[in-house]
Amino acid sequence: MRSAPFKKILIANRGEIALRIISACKDLGIQTVAVYSEADRHSLPVRFADEAICIGPAKSARSYLDIPSIISAAEITNVDAIHPGYGFLSENARFAEVCEVSGIKFIGPRPEVIQVMGLKERARAIMHDAGVPILPGSGGVIQSAEEALETAASIGYPVILKASAGGGGRGMRIVNEAPELAALLAQAQQEAGAAFNSSDIYLEKYIRGPRHIEFQVLADHHGNVEVLGERECSIQRRHQKLVEESPSPALKPQVRQAISDKLREAIRAVGYTNAGTVEFLMDETGQLYFIEVNARIQVEHPVTELVTGVDLVKSQILISAGESLPDILADRVVPGGHALECRVNAENPDTFAPSPGRITAFNVPGSIGVRVDTAAFTDYVIPPYYDSLVAKLITHGRNRDEAIQRMRRALDLFVVEGIHTSIPLHRKILADPDFLAGKFDTRFIQRFIGDNRMK
Ligand code: ADP
Repeated sequence: MRSAPFKKILIANRGEIALRIISACKDLGIQTVAVYSEADRHSLPVRFADEAICIGPAKSARSYLDIPSIISAAEITNVDAIHPGYGFLSENARFAEVCEVSGIKFIGPRPEVIQVMGLKERARAIMHDAGVPILPGSGGVIQSAEEALETAASIGYPVILKASAGGGGRGMRIVNEAPELAALLAQAQQEAGAAFNSSDIYLEKYIRGPRHIEFQVLADHHGNVEVLGERECSIQRRHQKLVEESPSPALKPQVRQAISDKLREAIRAVGYTNAGTVEFLMDETGQLYFIEVNARIQVEHPVTELVTGVDLVKSQILISAGESLPDILADRVVPGGHALECRVNAENPDTFAPSPGRITAFNVPGSIGVRVDTAAFTDYVIPPYYDSLVAKLITHGRNRDEAIQRMRRALDLFVVEGIHTSIPLHRKILADPDFLAGKFDTRFIQRFIGDNRMK
């Protein structure tokens, strides 16, 4: 057994991902510190971490996003490293920098790399230079409406205006024809300025009904890069993923290979380290085009873990401690097969309205091929302040059909009472003939709702 790479790690997050990180630390013999808001006092991460520190009130701006509070907690508890999980401060370059300045390892890429990847138009240019395909579009940030009109005319409508510092779908506008471009550009600039403190907008060709396919990468501090296949994430509502799977039912092996080869070069060229996700859109001809890099662990990482046999969170920690990827991956057994994830959210399955509150009964399915990542339990009260994820239900099988069969069985045995959840919606998705045939794109849910099949 290897010696522990760090003595103690602070987890700057909450919910299921905090538990996931505690699990990885337990496997590595590392002590953990949970930080929590007043709303999370009775949560499982607080119970299962070796130490726990309250960092502020429920509102995340004053707790999970409060850098001084988190750094103080880290200093008081004398940790070696901080794992940011996803969301909150995970892609905040300043936080990563403050950690390093305070002598604490930030488990993620270097601050400069996080910053560049956060400027999507810069990331796009870098990927392009490294030979990764991008959609035709503006060479950089749009300087004037005239320039935007010229670019759009040369690539053809529809085009999409996107905020360089954007996230969560804000600051985006689809432009169908020239006369509407100038007004939409002004709107996008204003929205981006208000949301991200930067009104920089770039433009690219808009694909109608793309598939969303993303590649998982791991990179160490010695120049080794591994691409661990892809995840298909086209089943989404308002850019929120609902179902993810690996491998994608639509990706041709030679395209997977070509993109993986290019990505290895690109990731090395930008000095990217730790875990990351490179997102692509696929058009109807099966071509992939880069859209952005997520410089963190993703919610949907378990599907990759189940088909590659790699513990991604453990790998993140070992990479940060300076270990080399060949050593980290040396003893892995590749299970192959197919994995699916359904995000069980606390929300009304018809209206999608959030449904926080007390869970009065909770039965987690088990048996062969099923994994559940959750921080919920009977009598747990889902607070209204954070995201609505209750559990990630993940299944694995020898092939897609078996993974689907196991998911259906697991959904039937999953009991969550007292709140509304997306379980009924998942049952319908898992019974849909197009989903079963692997024939879908990002418009799937929309069509589904319009079709009345959700009633
Ligand atoms: P954000 O960081 O705001 O989530 P992304 O660049 O990841 O922005 O895009 C979010 C979503 O918007 C994509 O998953 C896709 O559904 C849609 N989108 C983005 N760019 C395009 C494009 N060029 N053509 C079609 N859809 C797009």
